[in-house]
Amino acid sequence: VSGRTRAQVLRATRDELASAAIEEAALDARILVSAALGVDTTALVARPDTAVEPETEALLRAMIVRRIGREPVSRILGEWEFWSLPFRLSPDTLVPRPDTETVVEAALAAFGDRERRARILDLGTGSGCILVALLSELPQAEGTGVDRSFGALATARLNARRHGVADRAAFVLGDWSAAIGGRFDLIVSNPPYVDDGAMAGLAAEVRCHDPPLALRGGPDGLAAYRVILHDAVRLLRPSGLVVVEIGHDQAAAVSRLAGQAGLELVEVRRDLAGCPRAIVAALA
Ligand code: GLN
Repeated sequence: VSGRTRAQVLRATRDELASAAIEEAALDARILVSAALGVDTTALVARPDTAVEPETEALLRAMIVRRIGREPVSRILGEWEFWSLPFRLSPDTLVPRPDTETVVEAALAAFGDRERRARILDLGTGSGCILVALLSELPQAEGTGVDRSFGALATARLNARRHGVADRAAFVLGDWSAAIGGRFDLIVSNPPYVDDGAMAGLAAEVRCHDPPLALRGGPDGLAAYRVILHDAVRLLRPSGLVVVEIGHDQAAAVSRLAGQAGLELVEVRRDLAGCPRAIVAALA
């Protein structure tokens, strides 16, 4: 029996995903078929007439079933790109979002001379994407990533090793900064900020597959900021900065919390869609 060609498999996969109302059916089909074949997406279109092996078909079938079950392609692949670096994921980590690159950008912009020595604290490090991206850009910096999930810490450590920054990174189990002492030049965080009322309205890809611990921000979505911003005052060096990701409608509320904690707003930075996405604050 002669199998289907790559082009046929790609088209059939796209159609199947589209009929299951998957929004980015064409893109997802390209990513999943390439992954099943073990080639990159460019090689896929370069050889459309190559026959697809039965083992590949079986692998792809399993991937399609997961995608139709609303698992995002990032979870099916087990890794996703952030700041142009691939990050391993686990059920304990959020999938890194492009929006979160705004935190890295804001931190780097405010940091100044990239060659200076610095201590960074990442609260709720997850996959470690923010901390690893920063350490990859700041060669003299050292960082500590904190998470409440041991599984997330293992993944973050693996990502730090993979990107060559493990010798400058420590990963610590903890409840925000409760167990952390000393002073930092940069405190960064993408805390959970979805308010309880908004949880049910999240896309199934997020609601059913991202860890609730990384999403739930309490009744008003601001619970984590109260702790993080309050504690930042104790943990910042005099010239230090805190950079936190925020929900699209939280700029005013989080700025107010920063002020109440004794911090001064430095910048509200927007993401590529134009939404306020990160707040930079310093000691007042
Ligand atoms: N931006 C995430 C979302 O897609 C929320 C992540 C968070 O709470 N930090 O809803």
